Amino acid sequence: MYQEPHRVTVEQVDDPTIEAPTDAVVEVTSTCICGSDLHMYEGRTAAEAGIVFGHENMGIVAEVGAGVVSVRVGDRVSMPFNVACGFCVNCLAGKTGFCLTVNPGFAGGAYGYVSMGPYRGGQAEYLRVPFADFNCLQLPPGTAHENDFAMLADIFPTGYHAAVLADVRPGETVTVMGAGPVGLMAAYSCLLRGASAVYSVDRVPSRLRLAERIGAVPVDFGAGDPVAQIKDRTGGVGTDKGIDAVGYQATVDSGEEQPAVVLNNLVEAVRPTGALGVVGLYVPSDPGAPNEHAAKGELLFRMGRFFEKGLRMGTGQANVKAYNRQLRDLVVAGRATPGFVVSQELPLADAPDAYARFDRREDGYSKIVLKP
Ligand code: NAD
Ligand code: ZN
Repeated sequence: MYQEPHRVTVEQVDDPTIEAPTDAVVEVTSTCICGSDLHMYEGRTAAEAGIVFGHENMGIVAEVGAGVVSVRVGDRVSMPFNVACGFCVNCLAGKTGFCLTVNPGFAGGAYGYVSMGPYRGGQAEYLRVPFADFNCLQLPPGTAHENDFAMLADIFPTGYHAAVLADVRPGETVTVMGAGPVGLMAAYSCLLRGASAVYSVDRVPSRLRLAERIGAVPVDFGAGDPVAQIKDRTGGVGTDKGIDAVGYQATVDSGEEQPAVVLNNLVEAVRPTGALGVVGLYVPSDPGAPNEHAAKGELLFRMGRFFEKGLRMGTGQANVKAYNRQLRDLVVAGRATPGFVVSQELPLADAPDAYARFDRREDGYSKIVLKP
C-alpha cells in the first residue's frame, strides 16, 4: 500500500468481492512491480496514501458474478493492465488503453493507478476484475511458463506496441532508449519482428547485459553520447526506427532528471523519414513534478529537427488486448520467453525493500515478480 513518496507498506485489507454481475475475483499468483508504479512512488503524482498498487496481475479465478459467461472458477488467467469495457467506440476499434466507459477523458483505466479509475491493484492476495469476460485472458492450466505469462499483463504487449507504433519491419535497425523491463521487451519484440539490429541504450550494467543476451547491441550512455555511438555503428545515418522506453524520468549521465533528452536523442539517432514509438510515460501536467517543464506537462522537444527529418511518432498506453493472445501463443509454442527479464521472485512482505531497490535501478534488479 502506498503511504507517501518512497514508502510502501504491507497491510491487511478486506478481500474484494463481486460488485457487479460482470465481475470476477481472482486469487493472485504473480504480480509485478513496474516502472509505472515508480511515477507514484517517487512522489510526482497526486497519489494519496492507501492506494494498493499492482496492474500486472495473473492468477486463478476464485469467484464469478452471475453475468460472467466465459470465465470459470479455477481458470488460470492474465489480466491486461488496462481495465476496459469492450463495447465503447475505442474498445471496438481495439484501443482498449483508451476505454471511454471506465475512465472518460483520460488514458483509459488501470488497476492500482492514480487517475486511472477506482480499481484496486493486484499486489495483494485477491483482485476484483470488472467486465471479466473481456478482461481475462485464458492461460493453459498448471504452473508452466509462470514468469513468461506474468509479462503478458503489461510489458511484453507494451514492448510489442512500441515496435508497432514505430512500424518496425523485417531487416530494419532500431534504437531503443532504455533497457529497463519495458525497453528490454521492446528490443525483444523488434527482434521477434525481424529487425536486423537493435541498439539498446541504458547505463545499468545488468540491464545492458540482458540486452546483449537477447541479441541486441548494448549502448552505455554513461560511457559517452549515445547518439554518436549509434551513428558510428550505422555509417553516420542512424537507425531506421526509434523507441522511447524511458519516459519523463529520463536522466542525463550526471543523474539529473531531464525529461526531453530521450525524445531529442531519438530525433537525432533515427534517419530522416523514420518513425518513433513512444511508450515511456509522460504525464499531461503534474504540479508536483520536480522539473518545471514536467510540472506543466511541457517539454523542450526539438520540433524543428523532427519536422526537418520528416519523422513520425506514435505514443500512448499500450492496448494490451490487441497483442496478448498472440504473444501468449508464441510463449506456448516455445517461440518467445519474455520471462528472461525477471530478476527476483519475492513474497509480498519483501515489497517495500524491493520497491526501494527497483527505484534506485540497482544493478541486478530488472523485473520483480511478487508471489502473494
Ligand atoms: P525503468 O525506469 O526501470 O526503466 C527505464 C530505464 O531507462 C532505466 O533502466 C534507466 O536507466 C534508463 N534511462 C534513464 N535515462 C535514460 C536516458 N537518458 N537514455 C537511455 N536510457 C535511460 O522502468 P520500466 O518499467 O522499464 O518502464 C519504462 C517506462 O515505460 C516508464 O515511463 C513506464 O511508466 C512506461 N510504461 C508505459 C507503458 C505503456 O503502456 N505505454 C506500460 C508500462 C510502462
Ligand atoms: Zn506496468
